[in-house]
Amino acid sequence: MSSAQRIIQVAVPSPLCRTFDYRPPESGSLPALGGRVRIPFGRRSIIGVVTDIVTHSALPAARLKTVLEVLDLDPLFSQELLGLLQWASDYYHHPIGEVISAALPQALRHGRPAVMESPVAWSVTDSGRARLETVPLLRGAPARILQALAGAGAAVDEPALAAFSDRWRPALRSLVARGWVAAASVRNPPAGAMPRTGAPAANAAQAAAIAAITSAPPGFHCYLLHGVTGSGKTEVYLQVIARILDSGGQVLVLVPEIGLTPQLLQCFRQRFSDDIAVIHSGLNASERLEAWLRAKGGSARIVIGTRSAVFVPMKALRLIVVDEEHDASYKQQDGFRYSGRDIAIRRGQREKIPVVMGSATPSLESLHNARQGRYVLLQLPDRIGRAQLPPVRLLDLRQLAHPDGLSPPLIEALGERLSRSEQSLLFLNRRGFAPVLMCHGCGWMAPCPRCDARLTLHRADARLRCHHCGSDVRVPETCPVCQSETLRGLGEGTERVEAALSRIFPGASIERIDRDTTRRKGTLEQKLGRVRAGTADILVGTQMLAKGHDFPNLTLVGVLNADQGLYGYDFRSGEQLFQRVLQVAGRAGRGDKPGEVIIQTFHPDHPLFLALCRHDYTSFADYALSERREAQFPPYSHLALLRAEAPGQNQALAFLARAHVLAGALDSIAGVSVMDPVPSPMARRAGRYRAQLLVHAARRPALHRFLREWLLLLAADPLSRRIRWAMDVDPLDMH
Ligand code: ADP
Ligand code: ZN
Ligand code: ZN
Repeated sequence: MSSAQRIIQVAVPSPLCRTFDYRPPESGSLPALGGRVRIPFGRRSIIGVVTDIVTHSALPAARLKTVLEVLDLDPLFSQELLGLLQWASDYYHHPIGEVISAALPQALRHGRPAVMESPVAWSVTDSGRARLETVPLLRGAPARILQALAGAGAAVDEPALAAFSDRWRPALRSLVARGWVAAASVRNPPAGAMPRTGAPAANAAQAAAIAAITSAPPGFHCYLLHGVTGSGKTEVYLQVIARILDSGGQVLVLVPEIGLTPQLLQCFRQRFSDDIAVIHSGLNASERLEAWLRAKGGSARIVIGTRSAVFVPMKALRLIVVDEEHDASYKQQDGFRYSGRDIAIRRGQREKIPVVMGSATPSLESLHNARQGRYVLLQLPDRIGRAQLPPVRLLDLRQLAHPDGLSPPLIEALGERLSRSEQSLLFLNRRGFAPVLMCHGCGWMAPCPRCDARLTLHRADARLRCHHCGSDVRVPETCPVCQSETLRGLGEGTERVEAALSRIFPGASIERIDRDTTRRKGTLEQKLGRVRAGTADILVGTQMLAKGHDFPNLTLVGVLNADQGLYGYDFRSGEQLFQRVLQVAGRAGRGDKPGEVIIQTFHPDHPLFLALCRHDYTSFADYALSERREAQFPPYSHLALLRAEAPGQNQALAFLARAHVLAGALDSIAGVSVMDPVPSPMARRAGRYRAQLLVHAARRPALHRFLREWLLLLAADPLSRRIRWAMDVDPLDMH
């Protein structure tokens, strides 16, 4: 068949849920399936990705335009990965072009060639290093090159390799073919010089988990590793990963936020020295492209990344790890609203490889799936070594004074830690000095001009800021309503607690860790470094402190505002509160010294806190799941949220009301309930009004059938063009 009979189907970043047909270029090669082409689109020329090459188009031949340029002769995405992207587009009802675009590094979206920019450099792999120690010894050029690379401590670029042998090129080729040498970038030298530390012997529970994963027959299995905080989940990942690497495979490790857990990365670097590509939002376009290409080409054996890394092509992918699988940051909250965790599971299924998800507080969805037998539940019930889970004490705020958020027993406990040179952590999920600025003359509370929210007082720089839209104004000197000068901060944020602590304990060194104190690159690492080195006595921080950290000398954790979310309007509030508090409690007593957790609450009798006192996630989950079943919420049903946003509240609601009517006319509505449109919990945000409409179904296929038909009607409706709207499948928050 000549290329003239081929039709190239191209996905382009556009809100239309379809691909577009083109004729192949007049001369030159056919583009690759999964490669980029430049095409005429409207009056512009844009870049798209070839999703299929077929022989027939619904368009008459005369109307077909021609591909302008083929950018990739080799595919960027394999057939399997294209299939996964198509699946994600169908599942989230999001245009395929935008899905593919989200999976491409920015540099490739903008047409940069898919090749590494820096001069190619090479480094020895772990198996290459191992080969040097075995007999018979290698000889000749390959031996000289391998030894040179092993001795260099960093990647060696090609010009330097030529110094070791005239025959370096064929020698290199054979070393690469055997997996003993791999390409590395010069800009990000591999940590080859770092010592590769050995693995500790796994304890019995870890060994059982490792054996369960590594001895399963090949293929897709999903494991839920439920291990209490400090039980050594990371070690289970590391040992399973080592096996996969030894057999020549690649591993993808998803983490919620890399910046927050430098320790995890360090663990991986120490254990596996080189061969790691890290993909996160802090990379610039070139760094990201390079990490992506190393993953795709196989020279990065381990890829560690945040949610979008789930789409990174990996030629020999054999295992996916999802750390802290319950974490909300796996869900993208705007645009293409996918769950990195859920796509990881689907990817594992499609590529027939195991997926290991770990958490001390698994999401109720995952726990339910494990109980239903869809996932294998692996448990690590105890902490490593002699460490014990810390006892939890509830302090009743109804009975105790708590100026600046600190009750006397908590202050006493902090004093004890200081006198023993141990560290404490105070957790408060609110940055700034006070969440409200109030006038004591008339009761005025500084509102955000653009949101249904109050401005937070940041006293150090005398600003009022909105944490929702970023509004930022100077603190007024007098009340704008009654001109009184008695303006005071109401309630407490981390800044206020820090100030109070330095008054109460003038000799103590206090580290505040929140988004305000860690804005500059590197400050978080510096602060965490001081904590680890033992020069910090008290840490005060937000959510940023709750995850993943392992500070052996930390023996006290205090939770200041545990009630936040206890009676939230979102059906997940309780689950999220429990997870947050249990995670932060898990930072205490991880070393040899026993730890203690103090929770300040107005509801010390609440069953959720009673379960927390026993570190009993399972019985909390039983209770929460029974509530969910009762109310028919996920995991016992499936949800989609139609979100609308407009300059006026009525416009947003009118569109949703129209959507409601359109839904009622569809046959596929059987098995689906469409609720009434309502204003979102924070209706006005950044000057726009938001409203939403919840769709509920007992069965997933029914939901998707309905959504598909409904979205066609919505997109065709004239109202839909005048406002911003989006479909959120499996919504995680209901704001
Ligand atoms: P988790 O992620 O479950 O909270 P970590 O993976 O951080 O726990 O492990 C807690 C600590 O125990 C870490 O310092 C880790 O290096 C150490 N550790 C893990 N497994 C072992 C083991 N088998 N022997 C000795 N130390 C271990
Ligand atoms: Zn006033
Ligand atoms: Zn605002």
